[in-house]
Amino acid sequence: MNADLLPARMVNEFVYCPRLFYLEWVEARFADNEDTRLGSQVHRRVDTESGAVPLPDERELRTARSVTLSSEQLGVIAKLDVVEGAGGTVVPVDYKKGSPQAYGAPWPSDEIQVCLQALVLRDNGYPCEQAELYYAQTRQRLSIRLTQERVSGVRNAVADARTVADRATAPLPLVDSPKCVRCSLVGLCLPDETNALLARREQPPRRLVPLAPDQRPVYVTEPGSFVGVKSGRLEITRNKEKLASFRLIDISQLAVFGRVQVSTQALQECFARDIPVLWLSSGGWLHGFAQGQPSKYVELRRRQIAVHAQAEAGFARRMVAGKIANCRTLLRRNARGEVADYLDALKRLAGQAQAADNFSTLLGIEGAAARLYFGAFPAMLASTADSIGANFSHLGRNRRRRSISSTPYFLFATRCLPRTWSR
Ligand code: SF4
Repeated sequence: MNADLLPARMVNEFVYCPRLFYLEWVEARFADNEDTRLGSQVHRRVDTESGAVPLPDERELRTARSVTLSSEQLGVIAKLDVVEGAGGTVVPVDYKKGSPQAYGAPWPSDEIQVCLQALVLRDNGYPCEQAELYYAQTRQRLSIRLTQERVSGVRNAVADARTVADRATAPLPLVDSPKCVRCSLVGLCLPDETNALLARREQPPRRLVPLAPDQRPVYVTEPGSFVGVKSGRLEITRNKEKLASFRLIDISQLAVFGRVQVSTQALQECFARDIPVLWLSSGGWLHGFAQGQPSKYVELRRRQIAVHAQAEAGFARRMVAGKIANCRTLLRRNARGEVADYLDALKRLAGQAQAADNFSTLLGIEGAAARLYFGAFPAMLASTADSIGANFSHLGRNRRRRSISSTPYFLFATRCLPRTWSR
């Protein structure tokens, strides 16, 4: 595949939001939400290749599914869900999980995408006069004629997307857009926070509720055990006896302690799914770790290198101050009780971190802030008698959870705790 070809799906993203397009296409940053997962579900059938698209000069046109075609002229590659024959022409049909607009018209981004597919078919020699969208939620099929106006609109969208892709930085977020609420990248983009910092909006940021991670780490501590992979699951065995089995989709990282072997196949599966693998001594000291291909998030690398070149020039101070400010934000947004004193103290400590002139002072400030934050932490949890909030202060904050880690292997349950605690 020509790496320069723009996927038609990305042109859809561009029309939805240029920043979303940039984050996904240029910076290769992805995140799933309920909508994207439902979309994959709807595409399960049409993503299975079947049938063959007839050559343009063949008479009989049949239905084909999951067809990938490209157009050098447009600089676009498209995966067509379905191509149907219709009276000597072909019609691309694109499946969407949701519904059309309230008045029955297709969404502009969907329309551009399916029209682009039609143009790609044309460029490959197929007669094509219209395209269709199928909305699964309402089971509606909408026809779109390829008028000259639509063709121009599609070409302009592709050209605009390429211009944005050539930029050194991502476009700014949309302001107060309802699109952001359903956007899968809202947690990475932070539209309200970014716009507030840039004074582009006056209202306070809408509340951001991070999803509890679905995946959890797997720790394998049983000496002499072996980690393999079978049918999409990690299997832990010892002397051919099965000790445990976990679905790969449920795993965030694999940590093996001491004399534990991991098969090459298991490593490959982990790397393919962005699951890092860590090797530790039986006492818990980290020897090293491995992960798959690094991310294409170039902007992050560029800034890391720039910061590294500045040596100690305040980066540690900014990181600690930022961490304290984030703790304060979480507390401010989520605490149910009176935490004004904590908020004031954290604000003061964040300011002191910015002004710290050596690392010892900075570490002291970070420790003091952490003590304060976790002191107020129960205020963010439900406080019924049997809840975590009621028991939190008794649980304390331990560097090691010996009672848990003494079991041969376990899943460390982070689901019910905010991310700041999950480390
Ligand atoms: S959150 Fe909003 S601004 Fe950010 S990428 Fe998504 S749609 Fe665009």
